[in-house]
Formats: sequence, structure tokens, C-alpha cells
Amino acid sequence: MKGRAGEAVQLGEPVRDPAPIDGCDVCEALARERVAAGAVGDRSKVSDCNVEIRRHPHRT
Ligand SMILES: [Zn+2]
Repeated sequence: MKGRAGEAVQLGEPVRDPAPIDGCDVCEALARERVAAGAVGDRSKVSDCNVEIRRHPHRT
């Protein structure tokens, strides 16, 4: 039996936090803030930091 075509099966794993870009001070600062926020259980702050990191523009 197959599931619906084209649908990825989620195994309950949370969406992975975006990784900061190496050498980017802003991303590294945000990543540190995210760790600190996670340590105190501030999930909205964690998610803010994730959004910032994801949106931070980088040249490739
Ligand atoms: Zn960055």
C-alpha cells in the first residue's frame, strides 16, 4: 500500500533549526541568542531567531 503520491511522510521530527552561516557575525549572534532563549524555554524568541537567520541575506 502506498500513501498519497508526492506527500512526504513526517515521522514527528521537528523542523530543523536553520544553521547560521559560517563567518557571519549576525547569524552567530542570533544562534547564540537562540541557544540562550531555548535554555530558558522562550520558544517564541527561539522561533524569532530562526526566522532572522533564515531571512538573513548572504552572497554565495
Ligand atoms: Zn547571516
